[in-house]
This record gives sequence, structure tokens and C-alpha cells, in this order.
Amino acid sequence: MIKTLLVANRGEIACRIFRTAKRLGVRTIAVYSDADAGSRHTREAGEAVRIGAAPARESYLDITRILDAARVSGAQAIHPGYGFLSENPQFAQACADAGIIFVGPPARAMSAMGSKIVAKTRMRAAGVPVLPGYAGAEQGLDELAREARSAGLPLIIKPAAGGGGKGMQIVREESELTAALAAARRLAQSAFGDGALLLERYLAAPRHIEVQVFADTHGNFVHLGDRDCSTQRRHQKLIEEAPAPSLPEPLRERLRAAALVVAREIGYVSAGTVEFLFDGHEFYFMEMNTRLQVEHTVTEAVTGLDLVEWQLRVAAGEALPLSQEQVRLEGHAIEARICAEDPERGFLPSAGRLQRMEWPQMEAVRVDAGFATGDTVPDCYDSLLGKIIAWGRNREEAAARLAAALKATYSAGVHTNERWLARILESPRFLKVRHNIALLDKSAAEFAGSATPLPEVLVLAALAAHHGEKARPPAAGAAGTASPWDLRDAFTPNLPALIPYSLSWRGETYAVELEYSGGKPTAASVAGRTRLALNNVAAESGSITAQVEARRHQARYQLAGAHVYLWTADEQYDFLLEDPRTREFSASAASGGLTTPLPGVVVSVPVAVGQKVTAGEVLMVIEAMKMEHTITAPYAGTVATIHFSQGARVPEGSALLELTPQ
Ligand code: ADP
Repeated sequence: MIKTLLVANRGEIACRIFRTAKRLGVRTIAVYSDADAGSRHTREAGEAVRIGAAPARESYLDITRILDAARVSGAQAIHPGYGFLSENPQFAQACADAGIIFVGPPARAMSAMGSKIVAKTRMRAAGVPVLPGYAGAEQGLDELAREARSAGLPLIIKPAAGGGGKGMQIVREESELTAALAAARRLAQSAFGDGALLLERYLAAPRHIEVQVFADTHGNFVHLGDRDCSTQRRHQKLIEEAPAPSLPEPLRERLRAAALVVAREIGYVSAGTVEFLFDGHEFYFMEMNTRLQVEHTVTEAVTGLDLVEWQLRVAAGEALPLSQEQVRLEGHAIEARICAEDPERGFLPSAGRLQRMEWPQMEAVRVDAGFATGDTVPDCYDSLLGKIIAWGRNREEAAARLAAALKATYSAGVHTNERWLARILESPRFLKVRHNIALLDKSAAEFAGSATPLPEVLVLAALAAHHGEKARPPAAGAAGTASPWDLRDAFTPNLPALIPYSLSWRGETYAVELEYSGGKPTAASVAGRTRLALNNVAAESGSITAQVEARRHQARYQLAGAHVYLWTADEQYDFLLEDPRTREFSASAASGGLTTPLPGVVVSVPVAVGQKVTAGEVLMVIEAMKMEHTITAPYAGTVATIHFSQGARVPEGSALLELTPQ
């Protein structure tokens, strides 16, 4: 077995590979760019080596630096993960030349699949179904236009050296053809340094079905079943499952056999994926990915195997652990990709510090995470934060479990897509296997969240804000003294207190007024109109429940600065309390509160311990948010303790002084 493994990757896949390596007693080495210093994958490795600046070209794509890192750390093998250098034959060759084991296929097998033209031609010759079109050597634009006309429209034009769905053009009308070919040529040149193009019949709404294959250096080949990855947005997979649902058995058998033909044809070694399009009647070879896929986890869930372990064993020269007859598939598994992007704003990528990243912990649910609470999501790499995989005895059970797991995921500080993914999993189209690769692009609106929060949600957010403020821990010294002055609403025990909140979300501001009576919330009005009766409000450790009119509502929440993060089952909200702390502060100071809800600096303390004061006398002046705020005595009494002296910084929520009533 390999003794020391370097993972030339980051994020969830690096963490996932380390997990298997550690289980096998392999020493682990991470590499990181400046954008990833301290990131989760570096924390989970035995050792971490800096390889360069944030741009991938200067770090994760720099072959020389990665090989240097392998040398200095004494790595015997390199696992490339997916993306970055994983399908780069020069990298595989450079590893071999440096005497380092590349955990993946040999460079020649990668090269054989590197060009879609070569791959398609070889596969057609080997008897694997391919879509009609043109995959020839004549690459003049006029030649291509002629071929396109004889093949017929609609067509898809693909860069032969392409990947990741980049640079593809769809031509539906004859009039678009010339411009589309020219655009594809330019994009292919600039993105892949190779202008060669492939023409293929365009299928309007096919399913994407693929087969996991595995081979060793002893000539053994097995498939580990199929997957359906049709739930894509702009050709990026988002939900993947194993096995592919609703496939006629004879067709499934032919598909798996075809995948093995492809693998044998190029003398493949290690884990690989053969991708096909399925139009409802026939399947067509699309390409082979010569690496571990993001979605390998669903295959692991239904086979009970660890594909990274298999890769390491094969790389060490061992034979495949199982023969085809010994491979057993059980149940159904579905994976969802949690990405840092905003589904409500055109999937705009999101970056920054994760105030919270709480992954679900549930039976039959696996989480492959690359980020934890407090981690920073850099803006220079892909948006994948982690994956959630649910297993079930059947597809329905797996989908229900995954939806529940997505709703038990709590993230804040960065926009994420888990609630949106849950809506897809619960949609009849997905459940009835009516999905295809065009679904999310054509019917995006079907899965959109609510445009305006319901009044109940706004009330919960205001209650959360209020309870959260009260729950802020008192400063040291005040600990254990349950001072009534910490409770704003306790000052008016006999009159209903009205506490206004102004919450904004996605550019809209909502006014919510909470009505407290006898220290309890009894009603709330939203936008000065809808008045709702409140009962049985309870808040504890980030969770709030309230009976609003007749129905019970529940949500999780977290306060961070001016943000009120609120999670209901269906949606995640990031409310901004409009200038809340300044308003809060004045309210608090006016009613005589002796805590500060915002951080600041003590300007002066005109009183001393033991001093008798009258109601309304100035006790302390604090500067915060560029304004001075005066703390006055709410009643006559004696100054018992002063927690902060002049010039001291006070953290938000601190108790400032204690006053013993006369
Ligand atoms: P890449 O290597 O850039 O990922 P692929 O050839 O694998 O390109 O295609 C990526 C995606 O593009 C597929 O998953 C599918 O959604 C779509 N696609 C590819 N070929 C066709 C086709 N002939 N008709 C319709 N959609 C296609």
C-alpha cells in the first residue's frame, strides 16, 4: 500500500480523500494556495504545504509547484481529485517521470479521451452507439457548415478539447449556423487552445446517464452500476442518483456493457466514468471522464464500496478487490451539491465568511463537506461547499430523506442553494422521473422560493431578534445576577410595550411591531396592518416556536451583527435589522437599561461606586457608531458596581453598571 499521499486539490474532495487515506493508515499531505490558508482541507491533513498565490494557475494548476511540494513532503503518490489537473495527461506523465505514483489512469488513456473527436470516432468503430453528426479532420469553417447542413438541425457544436460544458453552441435555425461556428471556434481557441470542433445532433430534453467503471493493471475490468445526472443547470450537475431510474433492464445491461467496451478499448486503469445521453429509446456515447467524479458517492452508497480505497489499491499495483459477479447493488442513493450561490438572484456566486455551516446528522445520510462554520469561501474557485447523500431502500425513500436532510442544513453568511434543491427533490417532475437536462433551465420558476416572506415568518424573525438580544450573555461580574434591567420589556410590567422592528430582505423592508404584555409577547402587527395574536412563544438556543393565531410555527435562527438569519423548513432568510443597534440603543438608554447592545468606548463615568443617585442622573456616556449615548439611572439608588472605566472598550451586550434600588 501507498505510505504517503499528497492530494493536489482542495475543498470537499481533498477532505474526502484524506478520510479514506487516514482509515488505511496512509500519511496525508495537503497543498494550499494563499486563498485556502487554514481551510478545512489543510486542517484535515497530517501536513500542509503552501504552493502559491490564490489564482489556480499559480497554485492548483501549477505542475512544477505541486511536484516540488511532493518532493519536500516525501509524498510517494499524488491523488488529483477532480477538476484542476485531474484530466491533464502532462501532469500524469510528469508524476511518472518524477517517480511519483499518479492515482489515476496512465497519461495515454487520458489522451485517448482528451479529444472528443478521437474518442467518438474510436467508440463508433468499436460498435458503441454515438449521435450522428460530424467528427472529422476537415476543420475549415466552410467544411463544417457543409457537414452541418447535411447532418440537419438542430445541432450542438462542441469544442473537441472541451470540458465543463464550456464553449458549446446550439444551432436551431440555418440562419444561426455561420455565426455559431465562428463563435465556437473562437471560444474553443481561447478556452482550450485548440479550435477543433465536433458537430452532433442536438437532443432537446435527454437524460444524462453514466456508468462507473474500474480497471486495474492486471487487465481486470468491472462496472459499478449506472447513475442518472440529468438534474443540471446550464450543463452543471446538481442532483445525481444511482441507479438510473426507469431504465428498461435490457437497455441497462447494454449500457453497462458498452461502458466496459469503452474502458477496454483504451486500456483504461483506475476509476472512470462513461457518459451517455438517453433520449427515451436509445443511449449515445458522449464522453469518458478519466477521473473520480463528484458523484462517485452515490455509487458508494449502493455498492457499499470505497472508490478512493480502490483507486489507491489499483495505484499500488493490487488487483481489483471484487469480480463483476461479486459486485452487489442495493437500494437507491441521491446526492445534492450544496453550492455557494444565490438561487433567488440568478445563481450569483457568493463568497465570504460562513457565519454558520451546520451539516445534517441523520440516519442513512452522508455528508462530504469542505467547509465548516467560521471558514471563508474564497471567490476564486468553484462554488461547491459540500455534498449531501441519502440512501433509501427505494428512490422515493432516498428522495424524502435527502429533502429532509437539506432542510436540516443551516448555513449563514454566504448564499447557498440547499432549500432550492429540496424543492426540486419534492417536485412531482423529479419524483415521477420526468426530469431531463433541460428541466432547471426551462422551468426555473417552478422551483423558486417565495418572493415575499409570509407575515408569520416576519413575526418569527422579529421575535428571534428580540429574544436573541435578551439572551446575549451578561459581562463577567454581572454573571448570575438576573438583573431586571437586562430585560427591556420588564420596565413596563403593567402596560403593553410596543417594540418596533424593521427587517429588510432582498431589498424590501418590512415593519413588524411586537406587543408585549406582562413581559410576554401577545400580538404582532405587520406593515401596520395585519395584526396577529401570539401565544406560547418559546425561544431557546437558536430555535424559536410561536403560535401565531391558530397555527404553531417553528424556525431556527441566529443573530450576527445586524443580521437575523432565520431558517424555516422551506426557506432560509437573511434579514437585516435596519440600523437596529442605534435604535435599540436609544430605546434602551431611554428606558434606563444598563447594558449596551452595541460595542463602543466609554467616554466618561461621572459616578463612583457607593454613590447615591437620583432617577435620571447620568451614569455613563458611551460613544458608539459615531454617536454619544447617555446612560441614565432608571430609578433612585446606589451605584453597586461599575464594570467599565473611562476609555474602556465595551463589547456588545455588556452590562455596564449595577444599581441597587433605594
Ligand atoms: P463537457 O465535456 O464540456 O462536459 P459534454 O459533451 O460532456 O461536454 O456535454 C456536457 C453536457 O451538455 C451534457 O451533460 C448535456 O447536458 C449537454 N449535451 C452534450 N451533448 C448534447 C447533445 N448532443 N444534445 C443535447 N445536449 C447535449
